[in-house]
Amino acid sequence: MEKNDLDQVVSVLANSRNTIVVTGAGISTEAGIPDFRGPDGIYRKLGENQVMNIININAFNRNPEEFYAFYRQHFVFPPAVPGKAHQVLADMEKKGRVKGIVTQNIDSLHEKAGSRKVIAIHGTADRYICRNRGCQVVYGDEYVKSYEDIVPRCKKCGSVLKPDVVLFGENIKNYVEARDMILGAQVLIVIGSSLTVYPLAGFVKEFSTFYQDLIIINKGRTQLDHAALLKIDGGHTGDTLEEINRQMDLRGK
Ligand SMILES: [Zn+2]
Repeated sequence: MEKNDLDQVVSVLANSRNTIVVTGAGISTEAGIPDFRGPDGIYRKLGENQVMNIININAFNRNPEEFYAFYRQHFVFPPAVPGKAHQVLADMEKKGRVKGIVTQNIDSLHEKAGSRKVIAIHGTADRYICRNRGCQVVYGDEYVKSYEDIVPRCKKCGSVLKPDVVLFGENIKNYVEARDMILGAQVLIVIGSSLTVYPLAGFVKEFSTFYQDLIIINKGRTQLDHAALLKIDGGHTGDTLEEINRQMDLRGK
């Protein structure tokens, strides 16, 4: 990152009373989580249509065996640990520099790093919820990984468990809270998202229409580069954030 850019980010953040962060897959690829939409992601390998046809609420309801055969193969990961970028963001929240995070990621790495105010609009992959409305017991992924059948069932009532992630055909979680948090920001930092997935990209667009201080840290183009006060492209996101945080430490902000 160039020194001028660094100075500008630090002074913008130092003057902000409410900095909100939006994160996408790019922050987690540095922690070893595959990017579904990246060059090696399953969307490219299998085609978006096939993925959408299976990772879909109707397909789940109609044929949970087929759903889980696919889901277990492509969406259930070994435990991952937060990367440097996640850790720095948690530290920035502790120091009052970041007030909240809205994430598209389902890996829980922000929470694992210690961030407290996190809105995961696409849900959480290591949680499963009983489909029986009257039961709704929540299970961790260990239960599902070690379950003897391909379709995991509730041990209390025997109903099928559903991953606590937003499938195609379902609404995002916490729509209102996420939008409010983003539009209420004084400064918005987008990290590791090309801003193509709606409705989140729409919230950021709305923010950038009325406010000015949008900062984008992403490898490659995003849909809102033209609206950003500053775009930081390339480099390691964790290192970039660490440098910003260190400069703020030095300035006592
Ligand atoms: Zn149950």
